[in-house]
Amino acid sequence: MRSRQRVFAAAMRLLLRCLRLGRRRRCTLVRQAEQLWRYGHLCLRSLLYNSFTNGDVVLDSLFEPVYWLVDHVTRWFGVVFVALVIGLTSSVVAIVYICLLPLILQTYTPAWICWHLAYGHWNLIMIVFHYYMAITTSPGHPPQAKDDLTGVSICRKCIAPKPARTHHCSICNRCVLKMDHHCPWLNNCVGHYNHRYFFSFCLFMTMGCIYCSISGWEMFRDAYAAIERMKLLEKERLQVAANQTYYQTPPPTFSFRQRAFHKSVVYVWVLCSSVALALGALTLWHAALITRGETSIERHINKKERQRLQKKGKLFRNPYSYGSWDNWKVFLGVDMPRHWLTRVLLPSPHLPHGTGLSWDLPPCVAEQHAPLLSI
Ligand SMILES: [Zn+2]
Ligand SMILES: [Zn+2]
Repeated sequence: MRSRQRVFAAAMRLLLRCLRLGRRRRCTLVRQAEQLWRYGHLCLRSLLYNSFTNGDVVLDSLFEPVYWLVDHVTRWFGVVFVALVIGLTSSVVAIVYICLLPLILQTYTPAWICWHLAYGHWNLIMIVFHYYMAITTSPGHPPQAKDDLTGVSICRKCIAPKPARTHHCSICNRCVLKMDHHCPWLNNCVGHYNHRYFFSFCLFMTMGCIYCSISGWEMFRDAYAAIERMKLLEKERLQVAANQTYYQTPPPTFSFRQRAFHKSVVYVWVLCSSVALALGALTLWHAALITRGETSIERHINKKERQRLQKKGKLFRNPYSYGSWDNWKVFLGVDMPRHWLTRVLLPSPHLPHGTGLSWDLPPCVAEQHAPLLSI
């Protein structure tokens, strides 16, 4: 009798515990749902009751997942793009060394051989040096010690002072000094400390591609004609085989080496001329920006500011422009005439003027310039 009572009591205790557990889990779920609802409500209120809210903010918020996706994909694909640049450049260099250089050495005059060897190697060294420096040099970031900084605005993402010309990169998730843009082909931001390397790489790569396209034009025409002939002969061979006239002598075929040679020449020419066109246009655009003393981001900001002031009948003046010629000298770090050779035509790791935190008049710029104004 007692044992039966004990079993009954134990079963009742177990039932009560189950009920209590279920209630606790239900309470947790309710609490979580309540928290979620409050958070959603707060988000909605902050979006709708903010005095700065307008159509752009709502649109930006709606597109936030798309921006997030693009930023992350660009970050992940950065390594792939860099590998692509290195792979394609290496393939062109290898084809030139294996296929074209022996032909140049056999058929060209000594003067032309010297020119091709000297120019080709100089251009290659400049491309490799500037690309390596552009991907490995940090563009520059504002210091972590916020007390030392006299910022002109506050970065909404970093919640930190932002010096003049500094912008936040959503891909690097950091503020970048004198930010130009985030380059996926470098997997790096282009800013104060690597802007010159980026532009020099674009310039020398374009020059190299134009050089390959012009000097390889005759070879490309011959190779293209040979490939067309190859296709024709292959067609004839197939026709002969289809007619089953085996007693006929089949047309001569191209060896594997000849096919590879002609296809490589066509590949090099098509790749170089396409890159020359695309990168040439980009280089010209950046050259125009440097002449005006602007970065890609400042181009848009200054354009808006120019239009705004124009409506008021005022004239906009870019405070970071020292005049076309001096802008180039400051950008390239040319302080004296010999620097055109040592710093522009030869690989040079010299630092740009200033720290990128403040924008005082560089010493190389003539004194007649008016003191800088900040926007
Ligand atoms: Zn920031
Ligand atoms: Zn970046």
